[in-house]
Amino acid sequence: MRPNGSPSRRTDPRIAIVGGGIGGLTLAIDLASRGIRAEIYEQAPQLTEIGAAVALSANATRELDRLGVLAGVEAHAAEPTELIYSGWRDNARIAAHPVSAGRAYRERFGGPYLGVHRADLQKVLGAAVLADALHLDHRLEQITETGDAVRLDFGRGRVVEADLVIGADGVRSAVRDHVAGPGGTRYSGTSAFRGIVPTRRLPSLPDPGAIQFWMGPGAHLLHYAIGSDGRDVNFFAVVEGPQPWPSHDRWTVPIEPGEAVAAFAGWHPAVTEMIGAAEHAVRWGLFTTRPLLHWHRGRAVLLGDAVHAMLPHHGQGANTTIEDAVTLAELLAARGLDDLDATLSLYRSLRRTRTRQIQLSSTATNDLLHLADSDDLPARNARMARFPERFAWIHAHRACEAAREAMGAAMLARAS
Ligand code: FAD
Repeated sequence: MRPNGSPSRRTDPRIAIVGGGIGGLTLAIDLASRGIRAEIYEQAPQLTEIGAAVALSANATRELDRLGVLAGVEAHAAEPTELIYSGWRDNARIAAHPVSAGRAYRERFGGPYLGVHRADLQKVLGAAVLADALHLDHRLEQITETGDAVRLDFGRGRVVEADLVIGADGVRSAVRDHVAGPGGTRYSGTSAFRGIVPTRRLPSLPDPGAIQFWMGPGAHLLHYAIGSDGRDVNFFAVVEGPQPWPSHDRWTVPIEPGEAVAAFAGWHPAVTEMIGAAEHAVRWGLFTTRPLLHWHRGRAVLLGDAVHAMLPHHGQGANTTIEDAVTLAELLAARGLDDLDATLSLYRSLRRTRTRQIQLSSTATNDLLHLADSDDLPARNARMARFPERFAWIHAHRACEAAREAMGAAMLARAS
């Protein structure tokens, strides 16, 4: 924490991370790699995420590589052959872009694109965290600023004081309520059916090794392989509605048997087969975080879904969360906690515009993916054909470098 050895710097700052998800774990690993200890408080009794996968892109995998955990992730991951956009009925290839084919993606962005089961990702990240720094079964109930410290109350008499608390506690963040007030989440008006199915149960699927969007009126289905042998396919089928979301405090609502397949009646057999091969007891509401002006307050700061949860249509929620984590680690390691407000403001200025742009673009992409059969299709299809050019800025971003450059620029400005 004292890279320049300044004697005025506080030693051994007490850093508390609320949430042991992708962002909280990555931040703790990055801080530890710089000799800074952080305690993680996670509400769940175990680090597991069941039944869903995540796609990691180069803007995150390059950072995971720097932290020494990429090889562990790759051991459980599949690299898609291509990114394909298909029509909902006939599997007409609207656009296709090579990913692992010819090492196109790695060559261009300097890191792999990977599909991985969340539980495997959590396990690899969890194993890289200092064992005694992870406090499971700790649900934050109350947060109070006391001037020179912040007090975290986890119930059952468990109270912790910290010099800095990082809210990495997801889209329904308790720390966000403290920083920016309540009412931070928004229902997107769309919901999803998700599942993981063995590839052998998908005989109609033409490209099981690809990451593929099937696009149709009012709905789309995205799938990609996961696991080192690509044995399973993860899918995510999004539909418009219900409107309004029936339950304010729940992510999921129960559905009738057959409801998920029925929502895709008439689609290509690969799609209905995939949805039919999974069991569906619920549909998932898709929620985002409303754009926040305030990312930090006093000794509390937010990262990841807590501050910019987005629709998953660019596959960037986890990736931008990893960017946040490494940015914050870089800034805290270089600047310490002395001028905390300035450091957290710099963090916000580095992260807010970029994440807002990706959040907005993800929302706009929903309409493109759900376009009705109409005269607008050729223009939409032309946009999908230009996908790599239009969105290279997302994948090429180097968050740590951006933080270092911003600190350098700030130093120069002070000196002049
Ligand atoms: P989370 O990973 O949600 O972690 C938050 C943690 O905080 C959890 O462990 C939770 O238990 C804990 N917590 C919550 N409240 C408290 C509390 N009060 N006290 C203590 N602990 C608490 N992103 C991608 O980049 N690529 C994808 O392909 C992708 N696919 C997705 C598919 C779906 C269906 C969804 C819903 C999201 C997808 N995302 C994807 C987004 C991605 O999952 C999130 O952006 C990412 O997990 C955010 O990380 P996080 O650390 O901010 O939050």
